[in-house]
Amino acid sequence: MDIKRLVKKDVQRLRAYSAREVPCRIKLDANESPYGFSAALQAAARINTNRYPDPEAKQLRGILARDLVTRPENILQGNGSDELIYYLIATFGGPVLFPTPTFSMYGIISRALGEKPVEMPLDGEFDLDLKKMLAAIRKERPRLIFLSSPNNPTGNCFSAERILKIIGSSTGIVVVDEAYQPFSSRRGFLPLLKDYRNLVIMRTLSKIGLAALRIGFLIADKEIIEEVNKVRLPFNVNSLSQAVAVAALRKRNDLDRTVRAIRAERARMFTAMEKIKGVRPFPSEANFILFKVKDPGTVHASLLKKGILVRNIDDAVKGCLRVTVGTPQENSSFIRTLGVILSAKA
Ligand code: PMP
Repeated sequence: MDIKRLVKKDVQRLRAYSAREVPCRIKLDANESPYGFSAALQAAARINTNRYPDPEAKQLRGILARDLVTRPENILQGNGSDELIYYLIATFGGPVLFPTPTFSMYGIISRALGEKPVEMPLDGEFDLDLKKMLAAIRKERPRLIFLSSPNNPTGNCFSAERILKIIGSSTGIVVVDEAYQPFSSRRGFLPLLKDYRNLVIMRTLSKIGLAALRIGFLIADKEIIEEVNKVRLPFNVNSLSQAVAVAALRKRNDLDRTVRAIRAERARMFTAMEKIKGVRPFPSEANFILFKVKDPGTVHASLLKKGILVRNIDDAVKGCLRVTVGTPQENSSFIRTLGVILSAKA
């Protein structure tokens, strides 16, 4: 039997997302936090393993609502924000407009669901090309627009005025993906939710030390939340993750302390990377730094030979690698090794 022939055309054309595990000593490739919260795991011991999770994640949404100064009915929980991207596209459909380079899942999930992705290149400063974006809005009438700000993999925030112009011009939903907002010096878009009914903010706990739990969430108008909630699988966030996340969020100060440490380390890394000849780091508002080198493939391989794993971004941003901010020791080791590799090449 030819199984391939049975597969939907859109899916036949896809390739599975590659999240290969590369053995390494220092893992700086996936924008994770170097700090975990194992004390919060104790909360998992109180779970009744024979019972289904709370399908509405009431405690979790309650604590998130308090932190974000909103109401639980304005929050929708996801198994990571990846799943929420899926739900948004399943709910509203395409065309799905997004600038590139950006987070790859907007395109991958659009294709998986048979919806048309519309990609518009960013300008030379990695900011939104407003003219191109507005032209695409007029021509394609996207039902969804995804704007990752701070953007992965470039690290910058898009200009707030340009984002506002896009929200104001769109007849569809605009999702501002604030996965990296905790690391940003700019104000996020939460305060603007009251002014724009088509605005959705997406956040995640993955970047602040809780990636293992797979918890993302949307903040939006109640009507949007209710519509997206119709396509949500009933028990999408499991009991273990709910309980551990609640315990971790009750110690908000501990989470915030690690975010501050990462921001301080980002500044130190940036300055040190600027001093290495042949390296051009780009300013970052996220927990990673994009940097340009002459020969990214070789530099990537040389770092890995020393046990340091970074991400090769060359196919999305020519000549670039992306390094996640780790612990001070990990970062020092990365900077030292990068310096040695580039001086050997000079
Ligand atoms: N949005 C952006 C911009 C990301 O970079 C990522 C993770 N790489 C995600 C969303 C997905 O995060 P989660 O772990 O919550 O699925």
